[in-house]
Amino acid sequence: MQALTNRSKVVSKKEMTFMERMYLPAIFGGMMITFSHFFRRKPTIKYPEQKREFSGIYRGQHVLKRDEKGAERCTACGLCAVACPAEAITMVSAERKPGEENLYREEKYAAKYEINMLRCIFCGDCEEACPKEAIFLTDRQVSVYGQRKSFIYGKDVLVESKDSPIDLAKRQTPSVKEFKLHKEFGHNQTYDKNKKVNAGGHH
Ligand code: SF4
Ligand code: SF4
Repeated sequence: MQALTNRSKVVSKKEMTFMERMYLPAIFGGMMITFSHFFRRKPTIKYPEQKREFSGIYRGQHVLKRDEKGAERCTACGLCAVACPAEAITMVSAERKPGEENLYREEKYAAKYEINMLRCIFCGDCEEACPKEAIFLTDRQVSVYGQRKSFIYGKDVLVESKDSPIDLAKRQTPSVKEFKLHKEFGHNQTYDKNKKVNAGGHH
């Protein structure tokens, strides 16, 4: 029958040689490959006794940051939700009342803010889209739960504690801050300071 593509190969059914019929060279070759793996560095670790060190810019569990006075930075503008390719973020905005200036930095704030961690792909687009430096991904890992609803993180989990603020210095290097000024570049693209062009690759 006429082949529809040119990918077909003619398979030859040639007789095996005496050495091939002995199978010993093939077995010996296979054993050599097995032995060579004994002397290689093991790719596995004994988790949970051993844990790998995470990069400072690892994209893990989010945090909603407070400002230097302890007020929530998020103004419920919704840009993170719009930028999220997984549609993992939902929020309800509310208006700040007089006397709540110490709680919320802006006149509008997120009364409800949720991220569905089962949907999230940890791309970092929400962090990049936020004009208020309010949401960041951190090097913390999302916990494991037995129920789907437990993966929907609300403000009780996401807003950082006043007593133990999360240090984002590694993510907020001067070069990253400058990169964020240029909204024309995507998250997975590199801003070349000298050429002022997208140089491709991760930043
Ligand atoms: S990290 Fe990406 S997928 Fe996850 S909430 Fe942010 S924008 Fe959505
Ligand atoms: S986290 Fe940032 S982008 Fe998202 S709603 Fe709050 S201020 Fe807007």
